[in-house]
Amino acid sequence: IKCIGVLTSGGDAPGMNAAIRAVTRAAIYNNIEVKGIMRGYRGLIFDEIIPFRSNSVSNIIQQGGTILKTARCKEFMSVEGRQIAYEAMQREGIDALVVIGGDGSLTGARILAQEHNIPIVGLPGTIDNDLNGTDMTIGYDTALNTIMEAVDKIRDTASSHERLFFIEVMGRECGYLALNGAIATGAEAAIIPERMYGTDQLGELISQGFRKSKNSSLVLVTEGDITGGAMAMAERVKKEYPQYDVRVTILGHLQRGGSPTATDRILASRMGAAAIDALLDDQRNVMIGIQNDQLVYVPFSKAIKKNKPINENLVNTLKILSI
Ligand code: ADP
Repeated sequence: IKCIGVLTSGGDAPGMNAAIRAVTRAAIYNNIEVKGIMRGYRGLIFDEIIPFRSNSVSNIIQQGGTILKTARCKEFMSVEGRQIAYEAMQREGIDALVVIGGDGSLTGARILAQEHNIPIVGLPGTIDNDLNGTDMTIGYDTALNTIMEAVDKIRDTASSHERLFFIEVMGRECGYLALNGAIATGAEAAIIPERMYGTDQLGELISQGFRKSKNSSLVLVTEGDITGGAMAMAERVKKEYPQYDVRVTILGHLQRGGSPTATDRILASRMGAAAIDALLDDQRNVMIGIQNDQLVYVPFSKAIKKNKPINENLVNTLKILSI
């Protein structure tokens, strides 16, 4: 491999810059040329590709977002679009790709690799922690800390006014942000997609009378269609239990921003360097994951499989600590 391309795609996550830096520097260290591809797969299709030197990634490790920008690219969803992307890589002399993104981006990477036989290594860049085969994704720890700070502030008003707050957090189909966010803030409960089937989480909470020893409560809710979101929870409580003073806060995009935590910077740095090791080691179509502090190769097919299992130990801990 003489030259690699690096891109960030899908939703942005804090630590993507640290990952771009690590990929770039580790490649250059190994005498591999690097090209930065702007705006995810768009940059391949619309030819926005720039040569990267070591100093192209100076002074970015501490910045949220991504200097390469990110985009959702519908042209890449078609065979024709991916053919154009492949031709751009040929023209630019790019022999391999490092794709930093979430499950959609890695799904796209997998298809491109299958159609055109290009080595691609993925890095899990998403705050949702929803990729399989890795304990953590880049951006998750920062988002969790942001949620913690925000919920701590909401707690002040919840307890002063003796209110019940439903706080909606990101995560799509994955409850890690809500569950660990709830443990970290001492919240009453987390309503998560993994437990929507066959259990009425809200009903259970209400029938227990929320926390009996307290008259204010915080409940974290994962966004999205599966849980129905915080607003729907609040409507239901208002209708069935008018005695509660219910409020809703949707944390929204503030969860995606900010300077990455040390944990995310270190994770991104290790994973970025590991992506280059993987390519030198003839690995292809794998995502770099971390399991018990060891870097591992996770085949794309496994990484993007839906329904990452939730850690039941966390569910129990939250339950025990909220009596
Ligand atoms: P994320 O990577 O954060 O999950 P998306 O799901 O929006 O974000 O995916 C990002 C981009 O990856 C899409 O805009 C598209 O270009 C590409 N992509 C996603 N799914 C596919 C697919 N099935 N086939 C080809 N490309 C895809």
